[in-house]
Amino acid sequence: MEFRDQAIVLRLGSFKEADLWVRLLSPSRGVFSAFAFGGSKSRRRFSGCLDLFNEALFQVKSQGEYLALQEGLLLKGPDRLRRDWRRLGVAVNCALFLESFCRGAEQAERVHRLFVSLLNNLETSPHCSTLLPMFFRIRLAFEQGYALNPRQCSDCGNPLLRRAGDQALLPLGENGLICRDCASRSNGNSGNGRRFALGAGSLGVLRHILEEPLDDWQGMTADEHSQRECVRAVEAFLQHHTGLNWLNGGFRRKS
Ligand SMILES: [Zn+2]
Repeated sequence: MEFRDQAIVLRLGSFKEADLWVRLLSPSRGVFSAFAFGGSKSRRRFSGCLDLFNEALFQVKSQGEYLALQEGLLLKGPDRLRRDWRRLGVAVNCALFLESFCRGAEQAERVHRLFVSLLNNLETSPHCSTLLPMFFRIRLAFEQGYALNPRQCSDCGNPLLRRAGDQALLPLGENGLICRDCASRSNGNSGNGRRFALGAGSLGVLRHILEEPLDDWQGMTADEHSQRECVRAVEAFLQHHTGLNWLNGGFRRKS
């Protein structure tokens, strides 16, 4: 089998003196790995494609159980990320999460589009929020099917907030956000009883992350407390459901 695919380099490493392995993200295949034999020396065949976060058109051939890159044509590469370590750190962090979270081709096009937006944003945006990686994880999980509804109670279907000062609840063991009436009935007996309260401010943050393009996230007007409240609740919920642990610096699945 041989094919051409447009892909972004998410990660790469060397495994012999001249050979590289590459983790790629394409809009049709999602995350996949390939070898680039002679990749660290063959500038002509790969024409500068094999650098972190470059987007390139690759010719790929299967060789037994693995894929091998035959040649590449560079389409686009970051510039600011090469000079700004903090922004590069954000991109690496998001790429690692994406790699551990996204399996196969499921929703690959949406995931690819989101990651392209992230790279463009890191290149061009004058500001880089410390919460950007968290927002990215929440949106990516949403695109992958962890579809929290920030407006309706997942239990009774009524609006989450019906009275001034209402709070919605996110019990870790449930399917989504629930209204206060349903919360008082369930008593939070699932998910070890852990649940997080989200007020109007933090629900607004969640709606913004899920419904607005990534480039508009910096226009969020919510205060930082609401932003952090939203992130804390949704990340705990995702960790409970996915078994992925990333708060302690890694992206490992719990055994
Ligand atoms: Zn309800």
